[in-house]
Amino acid sequence: MHAQPAKTPPSQGWNFDNTYARLPEIFHVRVNPVPVRAPKLALFNRPLAEALGLDAQALAPQDMAEGAGAAVFSGNQLPEGAEPLAQAYAGHQFGHFTMLGDGRAILLGEQLTPAGERFDIQLKGAGQTAFSRLGDGRAALGPMLREYLISEAMHALGIPTTRSLAVVTTGENVYREDALPGAVLTRVAASHIRVGTFQYIASRGDKEALRTLADYTLRRHYPELAGAENPHLALLRAVMERQAALVAQWLHVGFIHGVMNTDNMSLCGETIDYGPCAFLDTYAPDTVFSSIDQTGRYAFGNQPHMAQWNLARLAETLLPLLHADEHKAIALAEECLLSFAETFKRRWLSGMRAKLGLFTEEDGDLDLVKGLLDCLHDLHADYTATFRDLAAATQAETPAFASADCAHWQARWQDRLNRQPQSRDDARTLMLKHNPAVIPRNFFVEQALQAAVQNGDYDPLTRLLKALEQPFEDGPDQAAYRTPPPPVTDYKTFCGT
Ligand code: AMP
Ligand code: MG
Repeated sequence: MHAQPAKTPPSQGWNFDNTYARLPEIFHVRVNPVPVRAPKLALFNRPLAEALGLDAQALAPQDMAEGAGAAVFSGNQLPEGAEPLAQAYAGHQFGHFTMLGDGRAILLGEQLTPAGERFDIQLKGAGQTAFSRLGDGRAALGPMLREYLISEAMHALGIPTTRSLAVVTTGENVYREDALPGAVLTRVAASHIRVGTFQYIASRGDKEALRTLADYTLRRHYPELAGAENPHLALLRAVMERQAALVAQWLHVGFIHGVMNTDNMSLCGETIDYGPCAFLDTYAPDTVFSSIDQTGRYAFGNQPHMAQWNLARLAETLLPLLHADEHKAIALAEECLLSFAETFKRRWLSGMRAKLGLFTEEDGDLDLVKGLLDCLHDLHADYTATFRDLAAATQAETPAFASADCAHWQARWQDRLNRQPQSRDDARTLMLKHNPAVIPRNFFVEQALQAAVQNGDYDPLTRLLKALEQPFEDGPDQAAYRTPPPPVTDYKTFCGT
C-alpha cells in the first residue's frame, strides 16, 4: 500500500525477535509506517536507549539533528529485523463495546535487551492502518510530548508503565480543530496485549485463537504460572492482582488515568495510553479532568471500581477456558473478581501506611487514613504537599493544618507513631521515600508543553523532565516545582486524537 521505508544498517543495536508477528493472522495486520516529510528528533531518552541495547550515539549524537534517530523514530527508515504491524483489538469505550485496533500505532517488533528482557517498540502516530476508520493515523506534537513526560514521570515514581524512547516532529501538520504540528512517539512496553485484545478474539468466536492468546500471555508475562492446575484461572487472578496493585499506586500519587476503557488496560499490569490523564492538586475523590468524561466514570476515586469492571470483561472472555461446564466457569470467575476489592484495599492501605510513616499494622489504620483524607477534602488541601509537610512534622509537633479538626487528626497520628517501635527519624525517612516532592502538576505540564509546541522552546520541558527523574528528591532541580502553583481552575484534558 505504502512506499517501503529504507532499511537501516544493523549497527544501531537492534535485536528483534517478533513473537507477536508470528501469531496467527487474526491477531494483526501488517502495515508499514507512512513516511513523513521532514522528521526531526525533538526528545530522545538516552538511558532508556542504552538499557534497550541501542547505540544512543548513532541514533542521537550530541547534536540530535545529525543522528539516524529522526529517520528511525519517524518510521521513515525501518530498523533491521522490524516486522511492522497493527494489532487487532476491541474495547469497551465508556461502557460501549467497539471494534478498534491500532488506528495510528504501528508495532515495529520486540527488542531483546542485553539483560534478556523483551520490549515492544511501537510508533504512535505512524500513519493509517487497516483499523484507522475515519482517523488520519497521525498524532499532534503536544499530546505526544505529554505522553513522554507523564509516562517517564510515572516510571520514576516507581509505577509500572509503558515508557517513551523518542518524540520526532514530522514537519507536517495534523488537522484537528486547528492545524497542529504533527509528531511520532516511540513507545516501549512489556507488551501491548490489552483486555480489548481478548475481547476482540472472543467476539470473533474463535476458541483456538483465544487459547493461543491466553497461552501466549501466560508465557510472555506470567511464566511462573505455566504449571498451575488451572493456568487460565491463574492468569485471571494474576492480572487482577497486578491491576489492583497498579491502581493502588495511582491513588497513592494522585494520578487520574482519565480513559480506563478496556482497550487501555494492559494484561501485564503497566499503565498504558496516556491521553487525558492528569494528577490531582487539591484532594477531591470526584476529580475529573477529561473533557469527554461527562459522567465521572473515570473520576479519581472511581478508578478501583472501573478496574474491577474491566476485569469482569476480561473474565467473560476467558470463561470457555476456565471450565468445560459454563456454570462452574462463571463461579470460578466470580470468586476471583470478588476478591479484587480486598486485594485492592490491602495494597492501597499498605501504601498509605508507608505514606504516613507507619511500619506496623493496627486495626484502626484504615480509619486513621480516612480521617486524613476527609481533612484534605474539607480543607481543599494539596494532596502531594500535605504528605511532605507531614513528613516534616514527624520530628517536632509542628501543626500541619489550620483547622482544629485536622489538628486533632494530627495528634492522633502522632500517638500512632509513638506506638510503633521505630523512631520518628525512621518514620520520616520512610515518608520521604513514599511521598514525592514533585509530580507533573497540570500548571507546569501545560507551561512546558506550550513553550515547546508554540515557540519550539524545549528548555522548560527539559527542566521539568529533569526534576521528575528524581521525584522524591528535594534538591535544586526540584525547587521550582515544589510549591503548588496557583490552581488551574476548570482544567480540561483532551484525548489527543
Ligand atoms: P485511544 O482513545 O487513544 O485509546 O484510541 C482509541 C482508538 O482510536 C484506537 O483504536 C486508536 O488507534 C484510534 N485512534 C485514535 N486516534 C486516531 C487517529 N488519529 N487516526 C486513526 N485512529 C486513531
Ligand atoms: Mg487506546
